[in-house]
Amino acid sequence: MTDPVPSRAEIVVDVAAVRHNVRILKDLVSVDGPVQLMAVVKADGYGHGMVEVAAAARDAGADWLGVATIEEALALRAAGDHGPLLCWLSAPGDDFAAAVAAGVEVTAYSVAELEEVAGAGPARVQLKVDTGLSRGGAPRSEWEHLFSVAHDLERQGRITVTGIWSHLAASDEPAHPANDAQEAAFREALALADAAGLDPDVTHLANSAAAILRPSAHFDLVRCGIATYGLDPAPGVTPRLGLRPAMTVRARLLMSKAVRAGDGVSYGHTWHAVEDTTVGVVPAGYGDGVPRAAGNAAHVWVEDSQRPVRGRVCMDQLVVDLHGELPPSGTEVVLFGPGDLGEPTAQDWADAVGTISYEIVTRVGGRLVRRHV
Ligand code: PLP
Repeated sequence: MTDPVPSRAEIVVDVAAVRHNVRILKDLVSVDGPVQLMAVVKADGYGHGMVEVAAAARDAGADWLGVATIEEALALRAAGDHGPLLCWLSAPGDDFAAAVAAGVEVTAYSVAELEEVAGAGPARVQLKVDTGLSRGGAPRSEWEHLFSVAHDLERQGRITVTGIWSHLAASDEPAHPANDAQEAAFREALALADAAGLDPDVTHLANSAAAILRPSAHFDLVRCGIATYGLDPAPGVTPRLGLRPAMTVRARLLMSKAVRAGDGVSYGHTWHAVEDTTVGVVPAGYGDGVPRAAGNAAHVWVEDSQRPVRGRVCMDQLVVDLHGELPPSGTEVVLFGPGDLGEPTAQDWADAVGTISYEIVTRVGGRLVRRHV
């Protein structure tokens, strides 16, 4: 990257990459007929900035936005978004009336929740059925009752059931038996909803992995989160689609210096130099959402090569091995980025620390400046 770097560290989000990814995903799922695309922008757009990502996704043709909480939905409305918007995670005491007044579609998991939503005014509501994730959503034993109450409330003009949906447990493992079982259960739920007199506008089941790997799960719309940000929902399985990672995390080297063979590095001396070498101090740490587990595990990019993180990651700093070089302070360090130049990616960091790319990009932030380009 050639644009200016601030003094310490920053997150750079390439909104053109988000637009590009949305177009690719939309084209992909519409091959056999029109399927709507929901860009999932919860958790501050997976760390990329919810409002900016939402605008880019809409720009590129996302039909819907999806968030977890009512607060997130209202923040999008306050930022000027007026398109179809679904939220799906409510807690006791949540302000359904504010969501309904703002034209946000809310999700009900139970009869009690449905009645609460109906009390908030004529509401557009989607019903979530649990088809096997055993997380949120109405369990199978309650589907018929939920659908019949929903239909009654519809007839009274208190709600409109606009959608019925569910969520997959193992879509990143295409051969996992839960995929077939959940898809079959979802079809069963839709048949029961139909028998109860419901006629939703949209039915949906797929997240990014299923959008890419399981056309039979597309239904009317797919909910894509991680792929919107250019990251791979099913590493090692997903075909090459040309998605572009949107996030780069970079910093300015604080200093570089020599260490002698045997010197211990960082707290607890969990790494000792095996020979005389040089190290660089990078001013970003777990206080900025850099995983502490990256110590002695991840790499960063300095002067055209990957350099290992040595010793423990501290709250504000981490140390990298510069293999005898002494780049000046201020030299650019890329923790992770799209990988185009050979720099590590968020997926590389996830592999190094034993997590998923979702967690890497969603957690990084804290004090870091975030810039959209
Ligand atoms: N749908 C729901 C209900 C979700 O909670 C999420 C994210 O966890 C998504 C869709 C998007 O998933 P992914 O980021 O794997 O595309």
